[in-house]
Amino acid sequence: MRIHQATFIKSAVKPADYPPPELSEIAFAGRSNVGKSSLINVLVERKGLVRTSSTPGRTQLINFFTISGECPPLTLVDLPGYGYAKVPLEVKRQWGPMMERYLAGRETLRAVVLILDVRRIPSDEDLQMLDWLRAYRRRPVVVLTKCDKLTKNERAKQITQISLRLDLPREELVQFSALSKEGRDNVWKAILAALEE
Ligand code: GDP
Repeated sequence: MRIHQATFIKSAVKPADYPPPELSEIAFAGRSNVGKSSLINVLVERKGLVRTSSTPGRTQLINFFTISGECPPLTLVDLPGYGYAKVPLEVKRQWGPMMERYLAGRETLRAVVLILDVRRIPSDEDLQMLDWLRAYRRRPVVVLTKCDKLTKNERAKQITQISLRLDLPREELVQFSALSKEGRDNVWKAILAALEE
């Protein structure tokens, strides 16, 4: 999948500030530091399109990007990571309502990529995110990232545990590494499948 153009559009907190709902939208969610920016940058083949978590300012907003190329024109949405220890309490309080307004109301949203660290058993916050997606009938695409950090055996064991905890078949968990780019095609495949539904 070649991406010819990838452009940052804007950051927003509330619906009035979202870009007009024109293109199909794919959002990305996950615990802060899970590798969300790295995944998006690999998908769009741009090293610095999405800033990594060393810049917490923008990471607490909803960031909209448009892309085009071999995929249909799309909006990618970088949702603020959760579990970020250094975020002020006031910002933390805004996080839930900001996410729920987006997930509940965004009419062009077609799928949410939920990113999990393959080395960790999903946290309560991860499960809450999955519950929200199910409650709002948003299709989850679950990506297990940092796969390069485990041996084949360790990876297989983790996938079994994660699949049990999420109550999802292991075939639905897409294995990925931003380092080796393993799984990039499969993440794209899952996104395109969601768009076709
Ligand atoms: P974000 O906060 O979810 O956007 O996470 P980042 O994309 O900034 O990644 C957090 C850290 O994990 C950075 O140091 C990345 O280099 C590292 N990282 C992200 N993805 C991978 C991966 O697939 N493999 C490895 N080994 N490191 C990764």
